[in-house]
Amino acid sequence: MNGKSVKLAVLEGDGIGREVVQSAVDILRFAAGKNSFPLELVDLKIGLDAYKLFGRTFPPETLDGMRQCDGWILGPLSAGSYPKDDKDYPMASGKIRKEFDLFANIRPIKSLAKSSDKNIDLVIVRENTEDFYPDRNLFKGYGEFWPNEDTVLSLRVITRKACARIAETAFRLASSRSGKKLVTAVHKSNVLIEGDGLFLEEVRRAAKKFPNIHLNDGLVDSVAMQLVISPQSFDVIVTTNMFGDILSDVAAGTVGGLGLAPSLNSGDKYAMAQAVHGSAPDIAGKGIANPTAEILSTAMLLRWLYSKTGNECARNTAQDIERSTFELLASPESAALTVDLGGNASTKKFTDEIIEKIGKSS
Ligand code: NAD
Repeated sequence: MNGKSVKLAVLEGDGIGREVVQSAVDILRFAAGKNSFPLELVDLKIGLDAYKLFGRTFPPETLDGMRQCDGWILGPLSAGSYPKDDKDYPMASGKIRKEFDLFANIRPIKSLAKSSDKNIDLVIVRENTEDFYPDRNLFKGYGEFWPNEDTVLSLRVITRKACARIAETAFRLASSRSGKKLVTAVHKSNVLIEGDGLFLEEVRRAAKKFPNIHLNDGLVDSVAMQLVISPQSFDVIVTTNMFGDILSDVAAGTVGGLGLAPSLNSGDKYAMAQAVHGSAPDIAGKGIANPTAEILSTAMLLRWLYSKTGNECARNTAQDIERSTFELLASPESAALTVDLGGNASTKKFTDEIIEKIGKSS
């Protein structure tokens, strides 16, 4: 397997997508070369670039291209500003998660930057295919309705299958980590009595298979506050789709911001690297975005490939990327860090520094 070429699709997306995905890809190419990891990268169009070319943000050509690949690197999508005549409106990202059944969104939050030396190390395991997300929670159609002009109904979908598999994923992850061996289930079962009751039932069922992992749970509002005042008390958080999305941004704030929050969308067969952050229109095109989240998401994809195929070149490449990125983030030199981290380096300079570190490491 080690000699087999791995084919990854690169989908830049919108806004800062071009800058951060370019950075991740430059680093990936260099680290793969150093580790003799045969890699083929294929560019596919998505988002506003795709709309300009094909009149839609997620054209069938892109979906077909994705099917030919072993994994995907996706940048952020400005879904909030897509044209209403786009056939794929409102969001390609939801379509991908549904089409390829990427049911688990794994979002590590770790103190990496010098500016955030707080010893935080937790992972949010977010269900990715249902809940309040109307672009993916129905077999056909959209889960929001206008029964009359003054009323909107938004449908929440919670299934036993999705709860069971996300719970298993969280416990397996907690077992593999050298952390506190703790899973915290986050819910709002005092209000969403049936849906979150079902979620908790399945989390507790999964817990029985992992006697070495401690389980506790909390209401989402209270956990949001705990994440701010004592993020160190968490290890693995498992939760439903919308709560997971919101809590990830809260948690990212505790370690220095969205530029530092990577994520992997994964299912049984496929996986996709995709940073937690959005397309950041306020800084897009300025060359100052922090690419760390996309770089570390890419490393997560390589580790996923290793776990599926045993490809050691993929794992070694991931290790090189992570080690050099962590080293740079711990650097006392503000000249090497991006603006969000208190430095003045451009995305390009930050990228070049990581590549230089990879080149120098043995
Ligand atoms: P955002 O995540 O794009 O930005 C929030 C803030 O964080 C902004 O101030 C931005 O400058 C900053 N930020 C984000 N990433 C950064 C980085 N890598 N380096 C430095 N600073 C960074 O959220 P938003 O402004 O609410 O959303 C903008 C657009 O992104 C919307 O169209 C939204 O729909 C979309 N969005 C997409 C995704 C995704 O594709 N995964 C996720 C969230 C939002």
